[in-house]
Amino acid sequence: MSYCVNCGVELADSARKCPLCDTPVLNPNILAEGNVEPPFPSHIELPKGARTRYTAVILSLVLLLPNIVCVITNLLLTTHQLWSVYVVATSAIVWFLFLFPFIMKKKHKYWTLAVDAVATAAYIFVFYYYDSPTKGWFWTLAVPLDVAVFLSIAALCAFFSEKRTILHSLIAILAALTTLDIFVCLIVNLYRKSLWVTYVTLILGISCLILLLFFIVADKNYRLRAYLSRKFFF
Ligand SMILES: [Zn+2]
Repeated sequence: MSYCVNCGVELADSARKCPLCDTPVLNPNILAEGNVEPPFPSHIELPKGARTRYTAVILSLVLLLPNIVCVITNLLLTTHQLWSVYVVATSAIVWFLFLFPFIMKKKHKYWTLAVDAVATAAYIFVFYYYDSPTKGWFWTLAVPLDVAVFLSIAALCAFFSEKRTILHSLIAILAALTTLDIFVCLIVNLYRKSLWVTYVTLILGISCLILLLFFIVADKNYRLRAYLSRKFFF
């Protein structure tokens, strides 16, 4: 334990100068012992999760500013038209889809997905409400499609919560795409009350199914799997 010769403040063993009056510390005993590690880290390293969350919060604030400007401009200058609703809604959906997941903790990923599903539906509702509320497509088309998409993402999230092989990952993604494709087709057909199947849906579904079957066979067949792993590093 040493004290500053000038002001008498207590000094840490690692101190090179007094923290209070900047008087250099000359302690022959400690100099003889060589460098003493300072009791505090030279810089603070935030954990990766906290750093990402911090960045997301900063970006959120940046996103908030133009919205405030838009709303104020709208309310002050063009009161007959609420155009800022679209700006705010678009900013909100960008925030919910791209920043909100980084602010939420990983263990709450299903809650995050549920909130994002509601936010997406709400975003679509803004356009529905201002454009064509008489046609009724929101509840019979937009909401079921929204639910189907987010359920597929949730299923994939559950699958990838453990480490998977590339082949199994491909099978899971293709299975999710094929299921989603079938549901999209059903929802659209129910909405249009006809067996109207878009060619895109059919083509996408069939190609997914063929690839899916190929990967399942490859996964079961040892020789084919070995060949694929040599060729494509699976
Ligand atoms: Zn001092």
